[in-house]
Amino acid sequence: MSTATEYLFAPEKTVSLGIQGETRRFPVRRIYCVGRNYAEHTREMGFDPDRELPFFFNKNPDNLVLNNGDFPYPSATKNVHHEIELVLALGKGGTDIPVESALQHVYGYAVGLDMTRRDLQNEAKKTGRPWEIGKAFEHSAPMTDIVPVSKTGHLEKAAIWLKVNGEIRQNSNIDQLIWKIPEIISYLSAIFELKAGDLIMTGTPAGVNAVQRGDVMEGHVEGVGTLRTKVV
Ligand code: MN
Repeated sequence: MSTATEYLFAPEKTVSLGIQGETRRFPVRRIYCVGRNYAEHTREMGFDPDRELPFFFNKNPDNLVLNNGDFPYPSATKNVHHEIELVLALGKGGTDIPVESALQHVYGYAVGLDMTRRDLQNEAKKTGRPWEIGKAFEHSAPMTDIVPVSKTGHLEKAAIWLKVNGEIRQNSNIDQLIWKIPEIISYLSAIFELKAGDLIMTGTPAGVNAVQRGDVMEGHVEGVGTLRTKVV
């Protein structure tokens, strides 16, 4: 007798990212995002980086848009912002991971956009409600293929920028991260059980702003690659 699971309807396919130099794909489990992890961005959002620690929220794996795919202008908003971010791809999970060994959990790096319905997020902030409607919507996470650490080495200093229609909007360096990469992994692993397949978007530098239909966004992290998406 067969013991294969039968489903009421076909389950969704596993979401995955390509891996540079690999035919195998990286299956995505969860997407964690760090908020306010660059001091200049914290200030532009009206907060004091000396008094408020970064924090986490989530996007959904099926919010991903593969590199060069279109970003459809989302519903229910008049103010969609770009947030260019370095992304960590975990190859190994764990709980209570010490800072000292945290980098061993990183399989590779990617470049991602944390697209944000700013008007809905601001409304949620004002009313003390969750951020999902501002952050975790369809197509809200355009992302490049993953570049394995074996090719990039671990990143401590690397330029990060975003251009809209060829014009620089965000321009910084990942050495400006308030929580460094090992600290992000260690802190998060004390709150959730991390697993292989988890992605962590590490926060955005200053210069976030609105995009309109027809705009082309090009984002880059030195040593990792370039992300391109058009707002349609
Ligand atoms: Mn962000």
